[in-house]
Amino acid sequence: MNQQIYADHAATTRLCSAALEAMQPYLTLEYGNTSQPYSFVRRAKKALREARETIASCIGALPEEIVFTSGGTESDNWAIKGSAFNDPEHRTTITSMIEHHAVLRSCEFIEKLGFPVVYLKPSAEGIITADSLESVITEQTRMVSIMMANNEIGTIQPIKGLAEIAHRHDVVFHTDAVQAVGHVPINVKDLGVDLLSASAHKFNGPKGVGFLYIRKGVNLPQFMSGGAQERGKRAGTENVASIVGMATALKVNCDSIENNRKRLDELSNHLLNCLKEQGIPFVRNGINHLPGNLSLSFKGQSGEALLHRLDLMGISVSTGSACDSVNTQISHVLKAIDLDEDLAKGTIRISLSPDNTMEEMEYIADSLKRIIIPQGE
Ligand code: PLP
Repeated sequence: MNQQIYADHAATTRLCSAALEAMQPYLTLEYGNTSQPYSFVRRAKKALREARETIASCIGALPEEIVFTSGGTESDNWAIKGSAFNDPEHRTTITSMIEHHAVLRSCEFIEKLGFPVVYLKPSAEGIITADSLESVITEQTRMVSIMMANNEIGTIQPIKGLAEIAHRHDVVFHTDAVQAVGHVPINVKDLGVDLLSASAHKFNGPKGVGFLYIRKGVNLPQFMSGGAQERGKRAGTENVASIVGMATALKVNCDSIENNRKRLDELSNHLLNCLKEQGIPFVRNGINHLPGNLSLSFKGQSGEALLHRLDLMGISVSTGSACDSVNTQISHVLKAIDLDEDLAKGTIRISLSPDNTMEEMEYIADSLKRIIIPQGE
């Protein structure tokens, strides 16, 4: 097999053809600035309105609760820092040790400004339990921010229960749902979340665009100062083409969420079975996984070396989160779940899309065998 096998969809995904097609008019003919009053921008304004409605309906929100951003990082920064900047009492933020750096670095930032942050430790399976949140939440808590699905080990968190605890204490609940949106069914009202971050490039939309769901009634200060776009909440000329692409991609993904899940489960199971058949010992990290997300640890191996040798065989995987792949240290997520160091060092993340094939799973398993169990042994 001499084709390229892309198995790093938690890092980013391919733009879907429907999204590309939907974007094209706004990159060429309909290039007007939607802040202008003239009729030339009528179609672009309509496209923005419809995109907002589409996105809202995909997650059970109201259109006015969706604010467009430049992606997951901005949405997370806004949620964490905005909530703190709004709080003269400097109350505490509770988050987890396994959040994406967009959340963790934002928390470190507000800590330096004197806002206390508590970092919950996950269970060995990578779950943030209701008990752990109950044990630290107090009258002095302002916000709880727990990710919906972990980008490294794929664990889906019990968000509904955690949000309930936050609300019982009158605390705002934010979830970084960047890995989950478009991949698992989400209804913000049913989950009871107040703020939710999403990023288009994780669900076959374009890069550099995302959104923040802000529940009606939640007061988050303006994050980007400037023009009056996004009803004064987020300044900056709207990226109409990308927003339209994001809405189209999300709708396509949400319409096939169940079929995609089945396909991803089949692919994942096939890969795991092939690895077992090849006699390769491994541990799969986490439980309650995001479809197609496999964090696999091979004792005595180097994740870095595995990544590079698989790359030479035409296979793209990751050692952890995309932004950690240059960092040879054990990831903060694997450390937080107390994974044995020998296993943690030999960990790779394989994240699949429904477009991957069964043959590709066989080739990945075969390639891993050739690296881990050299011939003659
Ligand atoms: N949050 C999580 C869980 C992620 O996986 C990522 C990207 O890897 C981000 C936030 C950042 O999103 P973006 O790349 O859109 O800035």
